[in-house]
Amino acid sequence: MNEKLNDIKRYDYSDILGWSVSRYDKFKLCQRQYYFDYYGKYDTEYPRSKISALKSMTSTALETGNIIHDTIKALLERLLKSEKPVNSEKFLDYARQKTVEYCDAKTFAEVYYQQLEKIDTDRIYESVKSGLNNFIGSDRCRWIMEKAITNKTGWIIEPPGYGETRIDGMKAYCKVDFLFPVDSDIFILDWKTGKPDEKKHAKQLIGYSTWAANNFGREPSRIFPVTAYLLPQYAEISIKVSVPDIAAFTDTVKTETSEMYAALKSIEQNIPKEKKEFAMTGNLKICGFCNYRELCFPK
Ligand code: SF4
Repeated sequence: MNEKLNDIKRYDYSDILGWSVSRYDKFKLCQRQYYFDYYGKYDTEYPRSKISALKSMTSTALETGNIIHDTIKALLERLLKSEKPVNSEKFLDYARQKTVEYCDAKTFAEVYYQQLEKIDTDRIYESVKSGLNNFIGSDRCRWIMEKAITNKTGWIIEPPGYGETRIDGMKAYCKVDFLFPVDSDIFILDWKTGKPDEKKHAKQLIGYSTWAANNFGREPSRIFPVTAYLLPQYAEISIKVSVPDIAAFTDTVKTETSEMYAALKSIEQNIPKEKKEFAMTGNLKICGFCNYRELCFPK
């Protein structure tokens, strides 16, 4: 039975902090970086514009992933309009054009911190091309084009917004890359271009399943979340999510949200405590890749 999925639920704006895998990861990685990322406007030491400019910097790895994500999104949107076979040459030309556009428009941390003189756009494009070719050549892509496409009116491709949801009443964000119905099941695909991290990515997949179960009123057993690794070759991890998994995940979200709430002066208004309460990591390897290193270690 094919079907069209219902609309995505919307929530009224609220200031309160919303849990996400990436937010909590950052909180654990370095609380000072977390402060700059989420609460830079409260900093009294550096201008907001400075913190925003550093925050918005990209890196070669991040941008490669970003371009691949956006190009696959464009490919799926093109399939929504027409099922004609994709012309690989044209598709890769489009990807090259996007690579140049994106790289020209952004400041790279490697250049800003003088680790590289300039960004090698051709090298980034080579990685982008590999990731896209790996996807196009995968069984998953073939299956999408042959099977999933038969109910493309139900496709949700990177939904607008941040994937806001409620987990046992708590605000949370679980934004999927691509969700689609096949028969009476829901499939969720999440593209990755970095290294596999089974524990972290499984947690994300449970989050997506929880979001889909809440949003579409489905049994978790009918939801199939998949992490698709696009580099250096195509590989997947998928998990079966059960009702007890979702209950355990809900408890985790509660605990992690409470930890992040403890760093706030006002929970309702999401106002942080003083910056000094947000500890700098002692792991200098993390600092070596951090956009805010000039603030923490001024010369
Ligand atoms: S430079 Fe290091 S201590 Fe400072 S915010 Fe970045 S990771 Fe944290």
